[in-house]
Amino acid sequence: MPLFPMSRLLRHARAHKYAVGYFEAWNLESILAVKDAAEEADSPVILGFNGGFLGNGRRRVAEDIFHYGALGTAIAERARVPAALILNEAARVPLLLQALEAGFNVIMHDHQECSPEESAVINQDLVRAAHAAGAEVEAEIGELPAHDLGTGRATPGEKTDPEAAAAFVRRTGVDALAVAVGNVHMLEGRKAPLDLDLIRTLSRRIEVPLVLHGGTGIEPAALAEAIRLGISKINVGTVLRRAFLLALESYFRTHEAARVDPSEGTSTGGEQDLLAGARRAVTVEVLRLMSLFGSAGMASRFSKEES
Ligand SMILES: [Zn+2]
Repeated sequence: MPLFPMSRLLRHARAHKYAVGYFEAWNLESILAVKDAAEEADSPVILGFNGGFLGNGRRRVAEDIFHYGALGTAIAERARVPAALILNEAARVPLLLQALEAGFNVIMHDHQECSPEESAVINQDLVRAAHAAGAEVEAEIGELPAHDLGTGRATPGEKTDPEAAAAFVRRTGVDALAVAVGNVHMLEGRKAPLDLDLIRTLSRRIEVPLVLHGGTGIEPAALAEAIRLGISKINVGTVLRRAFLLALESYFRTHEAARVDPSEGTSTGGEQDLLAGARRAVTVEVLRLMSLFGSAGMASRFSKEES
């Protein structure tokens, strides 16, 4: 199928009280793992990559966003379920504009280094560019606390103010809004309490679909309630990366690199294949989340109702 506008997927989700997951990928295996799960679960899906990670200056080799755009669009277009493709949270505006050329149909600016005024101006420009390219913009207002695995602490963050959020959406014309309602970026080991009253207020005040980042660190029951109150996209990354790492570790507990058949270990995709195993581990995690988000089985329903 061709890429679908993310807002169309999310409006269907909101109307039917489920959420579409954005399962953030980082390489070929992880994006294929997400696609595998979406097809297996018959779920709409948001594929994509993190612009902050792909574009950061510490990479040993600079990445070309066009490679990732080509990969993502090819996978989405060949998928049996409706999908959108996002470049998530890039701080560098030129990278976001390139992403539009590279085929992403959603872009999101990372506003952490900006004042609210700067963020509004940047998003106005991004909306103009994205809409001209047939793409969409997700923005964030408020600031999510970020969990630091090293110290176990989180930065303070700032909850989304409904008044400011409504004004921001009107002014910028963004297509989806990520909100700070107690959710925490990259949280593991404990769960963040969600401010359900704030979600209720925001979903009454804000026209565009609401997005919850930090999906890893939220109790399943709270997530279900957030979805019921109007959250229609949930971002997940950390738990997928963890599943991938654990699969690699467990492989090497039972396989010695010097003794594994190199073809079986890397290339054939069979039982001995390291990356095929890690890909499946990510798929299993995504499948679990799709059923939690209520999106499993919704791809056919979306196609029936929206065509
Ligand atoms: Zn995020």
